[in-house]
Amino acid sequence: MAMGSQTSALIKQNSIVFHRIIMVLLLTCLPKSNTNDFLQSSSYRNSGPSSLANLPFQGLLVHDNLQFAAQDFGGRLSSLPLAVLHPGSVSDISLAVRHVYELGPSSALTVAARGHGHSLQGQAQAPGGLVISMQSLRWPKTSVFFTGKSPFVEVSGGELWIDILHETLKHGLAPKSWTDYLHLTVGGTLSNAGISGQAFRHGPQIDNVYELEVVTGKGEVLTCSEKKNSDLFYGVLGGLGQFGIITKAKISLGPAAKTVKWIRVLYDDFSIFSKDQEHLISLEESSFDYIEGFVLINRSGILNNWRSSFDPKDPVQASRFNSEGKTLYCLELAKYFDPQESESVTIEIDGLLRGLSYISFTLFQSEVPLLEFLDRVHVSELKLRQQGLWEVPHPWLNLLVPKSGIDEFAGEVFGKILTGNSNGPILIYPVNQSRQVSEHRRLQKS
Ligand SMILES: Cc1cc2nc3c(=O)[nH]c(=O)nc-3n(C[C@H](O)[C@H](O)[C@H](O)COP(=O)(O)OP(=O)(O)OC[C@H]3O[C@@H](n4cnc5c(N)ncnc54)[C@H](O)[C@@H]3O)c2cc1C
Repeated sequence: MAMGSQTSALIKQNSIVFHRIIMVLLLTCLPKSNTNDFLQSSSYRNSGPSSLANLPFQGLLVHDNLQFAAQDFGGRLSSLPLAVLHPGSVSDISLAVRHVYELGPSSALTVAARGHGHSLQGQAQAPGGLVISMQSLRWPKTSVFFTGKSPFVEVSGGELWIDILHETLKHGLAPKSWTDYLHLTVGGTLSNAGISGQAFRHGPQIDNVYELEVVTGKGEVLTCSEKKNSDLFYGVLGGLGQFGIITKAKISLGPAAKTVKWIRVLYDDFSIFSKDQEHLISLEESSFDYIEGFVLINRSGILNNWRSSFDPKDPVQASRFNSEGKTLYCLELAKYFDPQESESVTIEIDGLLRGLSYISFTLFQSEVPLLEFLDRVHVSELKLRQQGLWEVPHPWLNLLVPKSGIDEFAGEVFGKILTGNSNGPILIYPVNQSRQVSEHRRLQKS
């Protein structure tokens, strides 16, 4: 189905569209960095390690069994810290950071906050330094507030998003913007960005924060927001852990629907696929709640694999579809709804799908509870763990590609470079920058 001129005009209006692409390219293992040289060096010996042990922490400072803090999901870099602090309070974090600050620039002791260690490239590691294991920080207890115009949840920086979801669902609410995988900490994703299929509407997770409590590089404990200590607020959000340690966050919530219609359709032409993504994210009101996509290179039997969880709209034609040897692009969509809205949502979805140009008999649908949809990657995690394929090196690459360059990028990378079937997942998130900015302003006004 060709797109109408009105659609093309809408796409042109949204000039600042980015595609975020995550690629697991090849599971190559690079040599691990060796920390022994550093640990034996004079700068290490002079860095005041013993003085850390004298600090009156409420939590635990440990010097043994530190291997977990030398690892991350990337699995390519490994550096042992000198010690790990399991903080019992925010004061513990403040005490530790102030101590390191007061040791001065001649000390080689570095500090890194560690959430769930699911980043890459040793981001949460501190070679020969102090790792602060944020998941030990159990304060504040996750609490939902309804004060003011918009509800929010107050959480510890070490809280996992999956646990926040469980808690907020008890109140019929949920955070609006997610990552694909929820077993990550608040501090870990807010110090990056937090982008998933909801970002086109709500912005990334960092656009959905009202307030933070932060331990600064000098060990001060400060509250910051758009209006208060705003430099710190915007420095810490997306600051890769370099501007302070997030100990508490207030995160915007919205109503949580109970159920999700989850849809997958296929394309064999990247530019048609990306135009349909751009069309959907440019619709003002009625669109999907989640828009993402992925690339399938030379995979056989994919439609059969989906059948355990998705129903083909046209089973006969779908069974004849042969994916072997092809590069295909899967547009993944979701619409949230409550059971009483099922009929009207179905009509709305049919209308939206009619405006797309996918291969007609490759429409696959499923209906799942919201929790199951949002926590979907965990199901894959359990399967991969069983096969010993979860804790392997992950040389991932994240790119923001502007709309103007995405077709050329796809032609070169998917058309010429990634032609084998040994690649990991390649995800494509359409992100509308102008929508993110307006969402952020709306949030700050409410
Ligand atoms: C399977 C999987 C799927 C993913 N999917 C997505 C996705 O869809 N979208 C997306 O945006 N990302 C995604 N990610 C990436 C993920 O969001 C980041 O790697 C995130 O940083 C991991 O959180 P973590 O708690 O494990 O952080 P860690 O790896 O522990 O830390 C990451 C960084 O944050 C810093 N940090 C940790 N806690 C704090 C704190 N409290 N205050 C300040 N700095 C802190 C660390 O020092 C480090 O620099 C995915 C990762 C995995 C493993």
